[in-house]
Amino acid sequence: MELRFKTRTAEVIIDYNKCIAPDCGFACIKACRLYGRNVLKIEGGKPKLAVSPKEAVRLDNECLACEIYCSWYGNSAIEVRVPLEVM
Ligand code: SF4
Repeated sequence: MELRFKTRTAEVIIDYNKCIAPDCGFACIKACRLYGRNVLKIEGGKPKLAVSPKEAVRLDNECLACEIYCSWYGNSAIEVRVPLEVM
């Protein structure tokens, strides 16, 4: 089980098999409130999209804070994939 959503230039993947919520204090959601645009919410005890997938593309500021906070306080359950263009 996972949550996948696109942002303007990247893709966010939350692996629910690795997610240890609530033991992490929902660090990714706190990070999104602090540094991002509040696109995550708690639903069913897990982080879920608080907006529609289409809105996430427009709203998300790609701050990467969710991935960093999950690696610090959670279980490295979040990956933000940013495709690199080769010149
Ligand atoms: S910080 Fe990581 S472990 Fe915690 S709720 Fe978010 S995805 Fe799950």
